[in-house]
Amino acid sequence: MHENSEDGRRPSSALRAPSRRERGEGEDIAIIGGGIIGICAAALLSEAGRSVTVFDRTGICEETSSGNAAAFAFSDVLPLAHKGMIRQLPKWLADPLGPLAIPPAYLPKLLPWLIRFWRAGAPKHYQASLATQAGMMKLAEAEWMRLLDRSGTRPMLREDGSLEFYESEAEFRASLPGWAERQRFGIGFRHVEGEEMAALQPGLSPRFVKGTFVPGWKTVADPKLLGKAVWAYAEKLGAGFEHARVERVEAGANGATIVLADGTRRKASKLVIAGGAWSHLLAKNLGDRIPLETERGYNTTLPASAFDVKRQLIFSGHGFVITPLQTGLRVGGAVELGGIERPPNFARSKAMLEKAKRFLPGLDPSGGREWMGYRPSLPDSLPVIGAARAPNVYYAFGHGHLGLTQSAATGSLIRDLVLGQTPPLDLIPFRPQRF
Ligand SMILES: Cc1cc2nc3c(=O)[nH]c(=O)nc-3n(C[C@H](O)[C@H](O)[C@H](O)COP(=O)(O)OP(=O)(O)OC[C@H]3O[C@@H](n4cnc5c(N)ncnc54)[C@H](O)[C@@H]3O)c2cc1C
Repeated sequence: MHENSEDGRRPSSALRAPSRRERGEGEDIAIIGGGIIGICAAALLSEAGRSVTVFDRTGICEETSSGNAAAFAFSDVLPLAHKGMIRQLPKWLADPLGPLAIPPAYLPKLLPWLIRFWRAGAPKHYQASLATQAGMMKLAEAEWMRLLDRSGTRPMLREDGSLEFYESEAEFRASLPGWAERQRFGIGFRHVEGEEMAALQPGLSPRFVKGTFVPGWKTVADPKLLGKAVWAYAEKLGAGFEHARVERVEAGANGATIVLADGTRRKASKLVIAGGAWSHLLAKNLGDRIPLETERGYNTTLPASAFDVKRQLIFSGHGFVITPLQTGLRVGGAVELGGIERPPNFARSKAMLEKAKRFLPGLDPSGGREWMGYRPSLPDSLPVIGAARAPNVYYAFGHGHLGLTQSAATGSLIRDLVLGQTPPLDLIPFRPQRF
Protein backbone atom coordinates (compact mmCIF):
# COMPACT_ATOMS: atom_id res chain seq x y z
CA MET A 1 0.00 0.00 0.00
CA HIS A 2 1.11 3.50 -0.75
CA GLU A 3 0.85 6.18 1.87
CA ASN A 4 -1.92 7.89 -0.08
CA SER A 5 -5.60 8.04 0.61
CA GLU A 6 -7.99 5.72 -1.24
CA ASP A 7 -8.63 7.93 -4.25
CA GLY A 8 -4.89 8.20 -4.89
CA ARG A 9 -4.71 11.77 -3.62
CA ARG A 10 -2.46 13.10 -0.95
CA PRO A 11 -4.02 13.42 2.48
CA SER A 12 -4.94 17.02 3.39
CA SER A 13 -2.38 18.90 5.50
CA ALA A 14 -4.83 18.77 8.42
CA LEU A 15 -4.57 14.95 8.40
CA ARG A 16 -0.87 14.39 7.79
CA ALA A 17 2.28 15.16 9.76
CA PRO A 18 4.21 18.23 8.51
CA SER A 19 6.80 17.38 5.84
CA ARG A 20 10.53 17.94 6.20
CA ARG A 21 10.23 21.04 4.01
CA GLU A 22 7.36 22.35 6.15
CA ARG A 23 9.49 21.73 9.29
CA GLY A 24 12.38 23.62 7.65
CA GLU A 25 14.60 20.52 7.50
CA GLY A 26 15.30 20.64 3.74
CA GLU A 27 13.50 18.83 0.97
CA ASP A 28 11.92 15.46 1.47
CA ILE A 29 12.34 14.42 -2.15
CA ALA A 30 14.24 16.48 -4.69
CA ILE A 31 13.82 15.82 -8.40
CA ILE A 32 16.31 17.28 -10.85
CA GLY A 33 14.52 17.85 -14.15
CA GLY A 34 11.15 19.37 -14.93
CA GLY A 35 10.66 17.43 -18.17
CA ILE A 36 7.80 14.97 -18.53
CA ILE A 37 9.68 12.25 -16.59
CA GLY A 38 10.40 14.52 -13.61
CA ILE A 39 6.86 15.95 -13.68
CA CYS A 40 5.22 12.52 -13.64
CA ALA A 41 7.52 11.36 -10.82
CA ALA A 42 6.62 14.53 -8.90
CA ALA A 43 2.89 13.95 -9.43
CA LEU A 44 2.99 10.31 -8.32
CA LEU A 45 5.20 10.97 -5.30
CA SER A 46 2.98 13.89 -4.28
CA GLU A 47 -0.08 11.66 -4.55
CA ALA A 48 1.70 9.30 -2.16
CA GLY A 49 1.89 12.10 0.38
CA ARG A 50 5.57 12.95 -0.08
CA SER A 51 6.88 16.48 -0.14
CA VAL A 52 8.57 17.04 -3.51
CA THR A 53 10.61 19.86 -5.03
CA VAL A 54 11.54 19.90 -8.71
CA PHE A 55 14.72 21.74 -9.74
CA ASP A 56 15.09 22.86 -13.34
CA ARG A 57 17.27 25.47 -15.06
CA THR A 58 14.61 26.34 -17.69
CA GLY A 59 11.13 25.61 -16.37
CA ILE A 60 8.42 23.00 -16.45
CA CYS A 61 8.35 21.04 -19.68
CA GLU A 62 10.39 23.60 -21.61
CA GLU A 63 13.00 21.37 -23.27
CA THR A 64 12.76 18.01 -25.06
CA SER A 65 9.38 17.25 -23.52
CA SER A 66 7.89 20.43 -24.98
CA GLY A 67 8.21 19.86 -28.72
CA ASN A 68 8.02 16.13 -29.37
CA ALA A 69 5.68 14.32 -31.74
CA ALA A 70 2.98 13.89 -29.04
CA ALA A 71 2.54 10.12 -29.46
CA PHE A 72 1.53 7.74 -26.73
CA ALA A 73 3.30 5.05 -28.73
CA PHE A 74 2.20 2.12 -26.57
CA SER A 75 2.52 -0.30 -29.50
CA ASP A 76 6.06 0.82 -30.33
CA VAL A 77 7.75 -2.15 -28.67
CA LEU A 78 10.49 -2.91 -31.23
CA PRO A 79 13.95 -1.93 -29.99
CA LEU A 80 15.69 0.52 -32.30
CA ALA A 81 18.74 -1.65 -32.83
CA HIS A 82 17.62 -4.46 -35.08
CA LYS A 83 18.94 -6.10 -38.19
CA GLY A 84 16.52 -4.35 -40.56
CA MET A 85 17.50 -0.95 -39.24
CA ILE A 86 21.20 -1.72 -39.27
CA ARG A 87 20.88 -2.77 -42.94
CA GLN A 88 19.38 0.64 -43.73
CA LEU A 89 22.26 2.53 -42.07
CA PRO A 90 24.57 2.92 -45.12
CA LYS A 91 21.71 4.32 -47.25
CA TRP A 92 20.55 6.70 -44.52
CA LEU A 93 24.04 7.90 -43.64
CA ALA A 94 24.75 8.67 -47.30
CA ASP A 95 22.13 11.44 -47.21
CA PRO A 96 23.36 14.26 -44.92
CA LEU A 97 19.75 15.46 -44.40
CA GLY A 98 18.24 11.96 -44.28
CA PRO A 99 16.62 10.10 -41.37
CA LEU A 100 19.95 9.45 -39.61
CA ALA A 101 23.07 11.59 -39.45
CA ILE A 102 26.34 11.54 -37.56
CA PRO A 103 28.47 14.69 -37.79
CA PRO A 104 31.93 13.28 -38.73
CA ALA A 105 33.71 15.27 -36.01
CA TYR A 106 31.49 13.61 -33.38
CA LEU A 107 32.11 10.05 -34.58
CA PRO A 108 35.16 9.28 -32.36
CA LYS A 109 33.24 10.30 -29.21
CA LEU A 110 30.19 8.34 -30.33
CA LEU A 111 31.99 5.14 -31.32
CA PRO A 112 31.73 3.27 -27.97
CA TRP A 113 27.97 3.96 -27.88
CA LEU A 114 27.61 2.81 -31.50
CA ILE A 115 29.41 -0.44 -30.72
CA ARG A 116 27.02 -1.12 -27.83
CA PHE A 117 24.09 -0.20 -30.06
CA TRP A 118 25.32 -2.65 -32.70
CA ARG A 119 25.66 -5.41 -30.09
CA ALA A 120 22.15 -4.72 -28.77
CA GLY A 121 20.86 -5.69 -32.22
CA ALA A 122 22.09 -9.29 -31.83
CA PRO A 123 19.05 -11.63 -31.83
CA LYS A 124 19.46 -12.71 -28.18
CA HIS A 125 19.65 -9.14 -26.84
CA TYR A 126 17.00 -7.93 -29.26
CA GLN A 127 14.45 -10.50 -28.09
CA ALA A 128 15.14 -9.73 -24.43
CA SER A 129 14.72 -5.97 -25.02
CA LEU A 130 11.54 -6.59 -27.00
CA ALA A 131 9.93 -8.59 -24.16
CA THR A 132 11.02 -5.97 -21.62
CA GLN A 133 9.70 -3.13 -23.74
CA ALA A 134 6.35 -4.92 -24.24
CA GLY A 135 5.95 -5.30 -20.45
CA MET A 136 6.88 -1.67 -19.92
CA MET A 137 4.36 -0.52 -22.53
CA LYS A 138 1.51 -2.39 -20.84
CA LEU A 139 2.32 -0.57 -17.62
CA ALA A 140 2.84 2.69 -19.55
CA GLU A 141 -0.66 2.59 -21.01
CA ALA A 142 -2.34 1.61 -17.74
CA GLU A 143 -0.48 4.29 -15.74
CA TRP A 144 -1.14 7.07 -18.26
CA MET A 145 -4.84 6.30 -18.51
CA ARG A 146 -5.10 6.42 -14.73
CA LEU A 147 -3.01 9.58 -14.42
CA LEU A 148 -5.02 11.33 -17.16
CA ASP A 149 -8.17 10.65 -15.14
CA ARG A 150 -6.76 11.62 -11.75
CA SER A 151 -5.19 14.82 -13.09
CA GLY A 152 -8.27 15.76 -15.12
CA THR A 153 -6.27 15.80 -18.37
CA ARG A 154 -8.11 13.05 -20.29
CA PRO A 155 -9.72 15.60 -22.67
CA MET A 156 -6.18 16.13 -24.04
CA LEU A 157 -6.05 12.54 -25.34
CA ARG A 158 -6.66 11.74 -29.05
CA GLU A 159 -7.58 8.14 -29.80
CA ASP A 160 -7.64 8.03 -33.58
CA GLY A 161 -4.77 5.64 -34.27
CA SER A 162 -1.80 6.00 -36.60
CA LEU A 163 -1.20 5.27 -40.25
CA GLU A 164 2.20 4.12 -41.49
CA PHE A 165 3.07 4.17 -45.21
CA TYR A 166 5.16 2.14 -47.70
CA GLU A 167 6.31 3.28 -51.12
CA SER A 168 6.83 -0.19 -52.61
CA GLU A 169 5.83 -3.81 -52.15
CA ALA A 170 9.42 -4.52 -51.12
CA GLU A 171 9.28 -1.91 -48.34
CA PHE A 172 5.94 -3.32 -47.17
CA ARG A 173 7.26 -6.90 -47.15
CA ALA A 174 10.33 -5.80 -45.19
CA SER A 175 8.02 -4.42 -42.47
CA LEU A 176 6.13 -7.70 -42.00
CA PRO A 177 8.48 -9.41 -39.51
CA GLY A 178 8.17 -6.38 -37.23
CA TRP A 179 4.38 -6.51 -37.42
CA ALA A 180 4.48 -10.24 -36.63
CA GLU A 181 6.55 -9.45 -33.52
CA ARG A 182 3.98 -6.85 -32.44
CA GLN A 183 1.17 -9.35 -33.01
CA ARG A 184 2.88 -11.74 -30.60
CA PHE A 185 2.42 -9.09 -27.92
CA GLY A 186 -1.26 -8.57 -28.72
CA ILE A 187 -0.88 -5.28 -30.60
CA GLY A 188 -3.74 -4.72 -33.04
CA PHE A 189 -3.18 -3.42 -36.61
CA ARG A 190 -4.56 -3.72 -40.11
CA HIS A 191 -2.71 -3.43 -43.43
CA VAL A 192 -4.61 -1.15 -45.79
CA GLU A 193 -4.46 0.06 -49.38
CA GLY A 194 -6.54 1.73 -52.09
CA GLU A 195 -9.80 3.32 -51.04
CA GLU A 196 -9.50 2.27 -47.42
CA MET A 197 -6.12 3.97 -47.09
CA ALA A 198 -7.42 7.07 -48.90
CA ALA A 199 -10.38 7.24 -46.54
CA LEU A 200 -8.09 7.08 -43.50
CA GLN A 201 -6.05 9.99 -44.92
CA PRO A 202 -7.46 11.86 -47.91
CA GLY A 203 -5.07 13.86 -50.12
CA LEU A 204 -2.10 11.51 -49.92
CA SER A 205 0.40 11.24 -52.80
CA PRO A 206 -0.10 8.14 -55.00
CA ARG A 207 3.56 7.18 -54.35
CA PHE A 208 2.36 5.24 -51.25
CA VAL A 209 1.12 1.80 -52.29
CA LYS A 210 0.23 0.37 -48.89
CA GLY A 211 -0.17 1.36 -45.28
CA THR A 212 -0.70 -0.08 -41.80
CA PHE A 213 -3.39 1.33 -39.53
CA VAL A 214 -2.82 0.92 -35.77
CA PRO A 215 -6.14 1.75 -34.10
CA GLY A 216 -4.78 1.67 -30.52
CA TRP A 217 -2.13 4.37 -31.17
CA LYS A 218 -2.87 7.54 -29.28
CA THR A 219 -1.58 11.10 -29.35
CA VAL A 220 -2.04 14.10 -27.08
CA ALA A 221 -3.34 17.59 -27.83
CA ASP A 222 0.12 19.10 -27.24
CA PRO A 223 2.94 17.55 -25.18
CA LYS A 224 3.96 20.83 -23.57
CA LEU A 225 0.40 21.67 -22.54
CA LEU A 226 -0.09 18.15 -21.18
CA GLY A 227 3.15 18.39 -19.18
CA LYS A 228 2.14 21.75 -17.72
CA ALA A 229 -1.34 20.43 -16.86
CA VAL A 230 0.11 17.38 -15.05
CA TRP A 231 2.44 19.75 -13.24
CA ALA A 232 -0.52 21.94 -12.18
CA TYR A 233 -2.02 18.78 -10.67
CA ALA A 234 1.25 17.96 -8.85
CA GLU A 235 1.44 21.55 -7.57
CA LYS A 236 -2.10 21.28 -6.23
CA LEU A 237 -0.95 18.24 -4.27
CA GLY A 238 1.88 20.30 -2.79
CA ALA A 239 4.85 19.86 -5.18
CA GLY A 240 7.20 22.84 -5.36
CA PHE A 241 9.50 24.20 -8.07
CA GLU A 242 12.90 25.86 -7.89
CA HIS A 243 14.28 27.56 -10.98
CA ALA A 244 17.98 26.76 -10.77
CA ARG A 245 20.79 24.94 -12.52
CA VAL A 246 22.22 22.08 -10.51
CA GLU A 247 25.99 22.15 -10.64
CA ARG A 248 26.75 19.02 -8.67
CA VAL A 249 25.15 16.36 -6.49
CA GLU A 250 26.48 14.49 -3.48
CA ALA A 251 24.93 11.60 -1.56
CA GLY A 252 25.46 9.69 1.65
CA ALA A 253 23.66 7.59 4.24
CA ASN A 254 21.80 10.66 5.58
CA GLY A 255 20.48 11.84 2.24
CA ALA A 256 21.57 13.85 -0.78
CA THR A 257 22.92 17.36 -1.30
CA ILE A 258 22.28 19.43 -4.38
CA VAL A 259 24.77 22.16 -5.15
CA LEU A 260 23.20 24.92 -7.26
CA ALA A 261 25.06 27.06 -9.79
CA ASP A 262 25.18 30.00 -7.33
CA GLY A 263 26.84 27.76 -4.74
CA THR A 264 23.71 27.31 -2.59
CA ARG A 265 23.34 23.83 -1.13
CA ARG A 266 20.01 22.07 -0.72
CA LYS A 267 19.49 18.90 1.28
CA ALA A 268 16.97 16.16 0.52
CA SER A 269 16.25 12.81 2.08
CA LYS A 270 15.94 11.26 -1.42
CA LEU A 271 17.03 12.52 -4.82
CA VAL A 272 15.66 11.58 -8.24
CA ILE A 273 17.75 12.49 -11.28
CA ALA A 274 15.46 12.98 -14.27
CA GLY A 275 17.58 15.42 -16.24
CA GLY A 276 16.95 14.00 -19.71
CA ALA A 277 19.97 14.12 -22.04
CA TRP A 278 22.11 15.79 -19.33
CA SER A 279 21.51 13.23 -16.59
CA HIS A 280 24.77 11.31 -17.07
CA LEU A 281 26.76 14.41 -16.16
CA LEU A 282 25.19 14.37 -12.68
CA ALA A 283 25.39 10.56 -12.41
CA LYS A 284 29.14 10.88 -12.95
CA ASN A 285 29.37 12.91 -9.70
CA LEU A 286 28.08 9.80 -7.91
CA GLY A 287 30.48 7.37 -9.54
CA ASP A 288 28.05 5.97 -12.16
CA ARG A 289 29.27 6.03 -15.75
CA ILE A 290 26.23 5.70 -17.95
CA PRO A 291 26.61 5.66 -21.75
CA LEU A 292 23.89 8.22 -22.43
CA GLU A 293 23.91 9.84 -25.85
CA THR A 294 21.45 12.12 -27.50
CA GLU A 295 19.48 11.41 -30.63
CA ARG A 296 18.73 14.96 -31.64
CA GLY A 297 15.41 15.34 -33.44
CA TYR A 298 13.95 18.19 -35.48
CA ASN A 299 10.54 19.40 -36.49
CA THR A 300 8.44 22.28 -37.76
CA THR A 301 5.05 23.14 -36.29
CA LEU A 302 2.78 24.64 -38.94
CA PRO A 303 -0.50 26.44 -38.34
CA ALA A 304 -3.31 23.90 -37.82
CA SER A 305 -4.86 25.01 -41.11
CA ALA A 306 -1.83 23.72 -43.11
CA PHE A 307 -3.60 20.46 -43.95
CA ASP A 308 -6.44 18.33 -42.64
CA VAL A 309 -4.42 15.47 -41.13
CA LYS A 310 -6.77 12.88 -39.64
CA ARG A 311 -4.38 11.05 -37.32
CA GLN A 312 -0.63 10.64 -36.83
CA LEU A 313 0.99 9.77 -40.17
CA ILE A 314 4.23 7.79 -40.06
CA PHE A 315 6.75 7.79 -42.91
CA SER A 316 9.18 5.23 -41.49
CA GLY A 317 11.31 4.96 -44.61
CA HIS A 318 12.00 8.69 -44.29
CA GLY A 319 12.24 8.78 -40.48
CA PHE A 320 9.54 11.33 -39.74
CA VAL A 321 5.90 11.71 -38.72
CA ILE A 322 3.14 14.29 -39.06
CA THR A 323 1.00 14.88 -35.97
CA PRO A 324 -2.17 16.94 -35.78
CA LEU A 325 -2.03 18.90 -32.52
CA GLN A 326 -4.45 21.26 -30.87
CA THR A 327 -1.75 23.91 -31.37
CA GLY A 328 -0.76 23.16 -34.99
CA LEU A 329 0.47 20.52 -37.38
CA ARG A 330 3.85 19.09 -36.36
CA VAL A 331 6.15 17.67 -39.07
CA GLY A 332 9.35 16.05 -37.96
CA GLY A 333 11.53 13.33 -36.52
CA ALA A 334 14.99 12.26 -37.80
CA VAL A 335 17.95 11.29 -35.68
CA GLU A 336 21.21 13.23 -35.43
CA LEU A 337 23.74 11.59 -33.15
CA GLY A 338 25.50 14.86 -32.47
CA GLY A 339 25.87 15.34 -28.71
CA ILE A 340 24.65 18.20 -26.51
CA GLU A 341 27.02 21.02 -27.52
CA ARG A 342 26.68 21.38 -31.31
CA PRO A 343 24.25 24.09 -32.59
CA PRO A 344 21.08 22.87 -34.32
CA ASN A 345 21.10 22.33 -38.08
CA PHE A 346 17.60 23.42 -39.08
CA ALA A 347 18.23 22.34 -42.68
CA ARG A 348 16.94 19.02 -41.26
CA SER A 349 13.56 20.52 -40.33
CA LYS A 350 13.34 22.09 -43.79
CA ALA A 351 14.23 18.81 -45.55
CA MET A 352 11.40 16.95 -43.74
CA LEU A 353 8.95 19.74 -44.47
CA GLU A 354 9.81 19.58 -48.19
CA LYS A 355 9.17 15.85 -48.16
CA ALA A 356 5.88 16.34 -46.32
CA LYS A 357 4.80 18.72 -49.06
CA ARG A 358 5.54 16.01 -51.65
CA PHE A 359 3.71 13.35 -49.64
CA LEU A 360 0.64 15.54 -48.99
CA PRO A 361 0.59 17.74 -52.10
CA GLY A 362 -2.07 20.11 -50.71
CA LEU A 363 -0.03 20.96 -47.58
CA ASP A 364 0.74 24.65 -47.00
CA PRO A 365 4.33 24.70 -45.65
CA SER A 366 4.31 28.39 -44.68
CA GLY A 367 4.30 30.01 -41.25
CA GLY A 368 6.08 27.18 -39.39
CA ARG A 369 8.15 27.24 -36.18
CA GLU A 370 11.32 25.13 -36.17
CA TRP A 371 12.51 23.21 -33.14
CA MET A 372 15.22 20.78 -32.09
CA GLY A 373 15.17 18.47 -29.06
CA TYR A 374 17.52 15.98 -27.42
CA ARG A 375 16.22 12.42 -27.08
CA PRO A 376 18.17 10.92 -24.16
CA SER A 377 19.16 7.48 -25.43
CA LEU A 378 20.89 4.40 -24.10
CA PRO A 379 22.36 1.96 -26.62
CA ASP A 380 19.93 -0.87 -25.76
CA SER A 381 16.84 1.35 -26.29
CA LEU A 382 15.78 0.91 -22.64
CA PRO A 383 15.78 3.69 -20.04
CA VAL A 384 17.70 3.70 -16.79
CA ILE A 385 15.24 3.31 -13.90
CA GLY A 386 16.76 2.30 -10.58
CA ALA A 387 18.97 3.12 -7.64
CA ALA A 388 22.31 4.83 -8.08
CA ARG A 389 25.50 3.36 -6.63
CA ALA A 390 25.30 6.06 -3.96
CA PRO A 391 22.56 5.73 -1.33
CA ASN A 392 19.28 7.68 -1.50
CA VAL A 393 19.55 8.53 -5.21
CA TYR A 394 17.41 7.15 -8.05
CA TYR A 395 17.78 7.56 -11.79
CA ALA A 396 14.93 8.03 -14.26
CA PHE A 397 16.26 8.93 -17.69
CA GLY A 398 17.26 7.65 -21.11
CA HIS A 399 13.81 7.06 -22.61
CA GLY A 400 14.98 7.96 -26.13
CA HIS A 401 12.06 8.12 -28.55
CA LEU A 402 9.53 7.06 -25.90
CA GLY A 403 9.82 9.46 -22.97
CA LEU A 404 6.33 10.90 -23.24
CA THR A 405 4.85 7.41 -23.66
CA GLN A 406 6.66 5.89 -20.69
CA SER A 407 6.68 8.84 -18.30
CA ALA A 408 3.68 7.94 -16.11
CA ALA A 409 4.97 4.35 -15.79
CA THR A 410 8.44 5.64 -14.92
CA GLY A 411 6.92 7.96 -12.32
CA SER A 412 5.07 5.03 -10.76
CA LEU A 413 8.21 2.85 -10.71
CA ILE A 414 10.24 5.63 -9.12
CA ARG A 415 7.52 6.15 -6.54
CA ASP A 416 7.65 2.43 -5.70
CA LEU A 417 11.45 2.49 -5.39
CA VAL A 418 11.51 5.62 -3.25
CA LEU A 419 8.79 4.24 -0.96
CA GLY A 420 10.55 0.86 -0.72
CA GLN A 421 7.67 -1.01 -2.36
CA THR A 422 7.87 -3.86 -4.85
CA PRO A 423 7.35 -2.52 -8.38
CA PRO A 424 5.03 -4.43 -10.73
CA LEU A 425 7.85 -4.92 -13.30
CA ASP A 426 11.19 -6.67 -13.03
CA LEU A 427 13.57 -3.69 -13.02
CA ILE A 428 16.75 -5.70 -13.68
CA PRO A 429 16.77 -4.82 -17.42
CA PHE A 430 16.58 -1.12 -16.50
CA ARG A 431 19.24 -1.07 -13.80
CA PRO A 432 21.80 1.74 -14.11
CA GLN A 433 24.72 -0.63 -13.56
CA ARG A 434 23.93 -2.86 -16.58
CA PHE A 435 26.54 -1.31 -18.88
C1 LIG B 1 11.68 15.12 -32.47
C2 LIG B 1 11.27 14.30 -31.27
C3 LIG B 1 10.06 13.62 -31.30
C4 LIG B 1 9.68 12.82 -30.22
N1 LIG B 1 8.46 12.23 -30.23
C5 LIG B 1 8.04 11.49 -29.17
C6 LIG B 1 6.75 10.92 -29.15
O1 LIG B 1 5.95 11.11 -30.06
N2 LIG B 1 6.41 10.13 -28.09
C7 LIG B 1 7.27 9.91 -27.05
O2 LIG B 1 6.93 9.15 -26.15
N3 LIG B 1 8.49 10.49 -27.02
C8 LIG B 1 8.89 11.28 -28.05
N4 LIG B 1 10.13 11.87 -28.04
C9 LIG B 1 11.01 11.62 -26.92
C10 LIG B 1 10.63 12.46 -25.70
O3 LIG B 1 10.43 13.80 -26.08
C11 LIG B 1 11.76 12.37 -24.67
O4 LIG B 1 12.07 11.02 -24.41
C12 LIG B 1 11.31 13.02 -23.36
O5 LIG B 1 10.85 14.33 -23.61
C13 LIG B 1 12.44 13.03 -22.35
O6 LIG B 1 11.92 13.62 -21.20
P1 LIG B 1 12.86 13.95 -19.97
O7 LIG B 1 11.99 14.47 -18.89
O8 LIG B 1 13.72 12.76 -19.68
O9 LIG B 1 13.86 15.05 -20.53
P2 LIG B 1 13.67 16.68 -20.82
O10 LIG B 1 12.33 16.93 -21.31
O11 LIG B 1 14.82 17.06 -21.60
O12 LIG B 1 13.75 17.22 -19.36
C14 LIG B 1 14.95 17.23 -18.63
C15 LIG B 1 15.01 18.51 -17.86
O13 LIG B 1 16.13 18.45 -16.98
C16 LIG B 1 16.68 19.74 -16.88
N5 LIG B 1 18.07 19.62 -16.43
C17 LIG B 1 19.02 18.78 -16.91
N6 LIG B 1 20.18 18.94 -16.23
C18 LIG B 1 19.93 19.92 -15.31
C19 LIG B 1 20.73 20.54 -14.31
N7 LIG B 1 22.01 20.21 -14.14
N8 LIG B 1 20.15 21.50 -13.55
C20 LIG B 1 18.85 21.84 -13.71
N9 LIG B 1 18.05 21.30 -14.64
C21 LIG B 1 18.59 20.34 -15.42
C22 LIG B 1 16.55 20.30 -18.28
O14 LIG B 1 16.55 21.70 -18.25
C23 LIG B 1 15.21 19.73 -18.73
O15 LIG B 1 14.15 20.65 -18.50
C24 LIG B 1 10.54 12.68 -29.11
C25 LIG B 1 11.74 13.39 -29.07
C26 LIG B 1 12.10 14.21 -30.13
C27 LIG B 1 13.37 14.98 -30.06
